[in-house]
Amino acid sequence: MTRATHEVFNQSTPLAGMNLYAGNRPLRDALRAHLPAYDEPPLVALGAEAGSAAMQAHARRANQHPPQLNAYDPAGRRIDQVEFHPSYHLLLGAALRHGLHGTPWRGGPGAHVLRAAAFMLFTELEPSVLCPVSMTYAVTPALRANPALHAAWGATLAGTEYDPRDVPFGNKRAVTMGMGMTEKQGGSDVRANTTRAAFDSDTPWGRAYCLTGHKWFFSAPMCDAFLVLAQAPAGLSCFFVPRWRPDGSANPIRIERLKDKLGNRANASSEVEFCGDTIGWLVGDEGRGVPQILAMGSLTRLDCALGTAGLMRQALTLALNHGRQRMAFGRLLSEQPLMKSVLADLALESEAATALALRLARAVDASEHGDDEHERVMRRVLTPIAKFWICKRGSHFAQEAMECLGGNGYVEEGGEGVMARIYREMPVNSIWEGAGNIMALDLLRALRSADVGAALAQELAPARGEHAAFDRLAQALPARIDSTTDESQARALAREIALLVQAALLRRHSTDAVFAAFCSSRLAQAADVFGLLPAGTPFDDLLERAWPH
Ligand SMILES: Cc1cc2nc3c(=O)[nH]c(=O)nc-3n(C[C@H](O)[C@H](O)[C@H](O)COP(=O)(O)OP(=O)(O)OC[C@H]3O[C@@H](n4cnc5c(N)ncnc54)[C@H](O)[C@@H]3O)c2cc1C
Repeated sequence: MTRATHEVFNQSTPLAGMNLYAGNRPLRDALRAHLPAYDEPPLVALGAEAGSAAMQAHARRANQHPPQLNAYDPAGRRIDQVEFHPSYHLLLGAALRHGLHGTPWRGGPGAHVLRAAAFMLFTELEPSVLCPVSMTYAVTPALRANPALHAAWGATLAGTEYDPRDVPFGNKRAVTMGMGMTEKQGGSDVRANTTRAAFDSDTPWGRAYCLTGHKWFFSAPMCDAFLVLAQAPAGLSCFFVPRWRPDGSANPIRIERLKDKLGNRANASSEVEFCGDTIGWLVGDEGRGVPQILAMGSLTRLDCALGTAGLMRQALTLALNHGRQRMAFGRLLSEQPLMKSVLADLALESEAATALALRLARAVDASEHGDDEHERVMRRVLTPIAKFWICKRGSHFAQEAMECLGGNGYVEEGGEGVMARIYREMPVNSIWEGAGNIMALDLLRALRSADVGAALAQELAPARGEHAAFDRLAQALPARIDSTTDESQARALAREIALLVQAALLRRHSTDAVFAAFCSSRLAQAADVFGLLPAGTPFDDLLERAWPH
């Protein structure tokens, strides 16, 4: 276009109307390795919908118009309502329609793996609405500890017809769930919780308690119910707190204010108080609140890894697309050798994150549908590792992908504005549900709970003998595991195991070029910035594989 002052040219145009699934070869190859004959059409449909310009516009609007708290009605009565932009509801409705929440619990083998793939794809559309979706997915194993509640709520937790109304759950075909653990004085150390639970009565849903206290972080407060930790006489316990009681009366959850967050802006995160009149139903045994809520937390940790892998793929696609259109110094950026190295390195990281997150989902799936001891151990050990390593790499990845777009990557406007949103979103997956150190320390606990060394040796065996750096590290791993008792070394060990498992997965379901480049850049040297791939790396092959055809 010609303007009075200058001609606008050499600006990239966003990729629009792309099928996020069909164009994601690393994801498709990883899926095929786990599920050789999977049901592809639902993913094709989701990929088309999530990549559509119309849905991407809803994502932008939901973030531009963050939720508002209406604590009181005009007459001054407390109502504790959060108002969201219609695009938020539309996106959340789409996520439920595609079964990203409770539906895998009703599916057969493979359902959790397919849901994991779908979750990654949806993240490329809008990640913050996935917060309540993830919590709704994750609650089922914990809720089973109260069979009456599970029987009453199980079906609607898998319902696909999202209903945003704040009405008793009996009037809804689908419900969503949240969780309340973190208090002002401590989030990682939930044993410091001060919210109190006093026994009230025995009911058809089991033992009911009155809760008094607060939660400092309480995301998606318009969910239909929450799992909440509180101190009962026998110790910290887990409670089911619905917005409405079975008799149709409101169960007061006072929303004090909404957090003004760095990212995750379409989603509301609140501070709440329970004033003694909030009823919670005991889930599991009194005093067993931590293991009870961890049954939920281990699955939201899976989703942190999946979500970050999805965001990486989205950022990579934006960077690749820009590089293929933007000229500098007389050549496309994507043809400049150093930019090729950066983009190819990002592609390696993205594929490795996808592979590791999906491997964890497969372990979840296998341990839910059978008694395979190897998969049970892999689930236990890969949960903290995937959450730690993928999320830790996420922010670094987003910064580098943003830099590929130059200044346009840093602005909020237009197609490139998505990059700024991704960058702001990244850190939350690393912080919530157990920050990096907590995950690394959990890995040390996992090492004490099972013969992890043997399970990892089995996991890595198929890739042995293929790359010297891989063999060297894999050989030394059992001794490293045995000798790592010092907490200060927990991150180093988590990183090492993550890289080895990622390499083994790439050997299994990616190309020789990807495997070799990953090992050379991550196992043979400690690459601290992207773009340090050795000379001779087949950059074009790596970029060709990553490009969303
Ligand atoms: C957007 C957002 C939404 C959230 N939503 C929810 C929600 O819905 N429900 C909910 O319950 N919580 C929620 N949280 C809270 C989140 O889970 C906590 O912030 C997180 O668990 C960390 O707890 P904390 O903030 O109290 O930090 P702290 O526990 O004080 O930790 C601070 C730092 O110290 C480190 N640390 C702690 N202990 C050790 C140790 N022993 N050794 C070494 N390092 C250690 C941690 O890794 C962390 O880096 C949300 C947070 C965010 C940002």
